[in-house]
Amino acid sequence: MTAMNIWVVEDDAGYRRTLQRMLNRDERMTCGEVFSACGPLFDALGTRPHPDLVLMDLGLPGMGGVEGIRKLAEVAPDVAVVVLTVFSVKEKVIEALDAGAAGYLLKSSTPREIIRGLKEVFEGGAALSPNVAKTVLMEVRKSPPEEQFGLSGRELSVLKLLADGLLAKQIAGELEISYFTVNFHLKNLYRKLHVQSQPAAVAKALRSGLID
Ligand code: CA
Repeated sequence: MTAMNIWVVEDDAGYRRTLQRMLNRDERMTCGEVFSACGPLFDALGTRPHPDLVLMDLGLPGMGGVEGIRKLAEVAPDVAVVVLTVFSVKEKVIEALDAGAAGYLLKSSTPREIIRGLKEVFEGGAALSPNVAKTVLMEVRKSPPEEQFGLSGRELSVLKLLADGLLAKQIAGELEISYFTVNFHLKNLYRKLHVQSQPAAVAKALRSGLID
């Protein structure tokens, strides 16, 4: 298995060295390059083979980290970005994730937590520091559950009748739509809720507060 190649953008020279040592100590990671600002990072991306991941500070001289993430998404969409910062305020987190960051870690985390977060991103999951996750979840909870799953009003009606124990044919009668249309809605519901069956859809809907 090849080690995951990580580039670091961090303006604090001492912390930069700490990160470099920390990443290189883990056998599944290698710190290919370090940069003190976004400018040299983009120069390197233009001339060298891309890394798997960029570990990005937010408070940087010149181009800020969030702007750097936006630009990375444009010029190097193959490269994942994980933020490593002291900022845990909600606005910063949302801004960075909106810009395209795959993860958001805090400098207050232990080296072990940072390494674990990077591995999670590498394996396709999202990595958030625990108190960052709380911040993001609070934000998500503010929007109604049907919005979180992107359900239409009709899909929500179908889901509610499903939870009442109605069969597809009965749902069709209740909503005065065709059996075919009900099945169409059901298929979309399963996809949006990431489930495979009616009971699973109902269970998930109850758990997430879509229905009560
Ligand atoms: Ca900094």
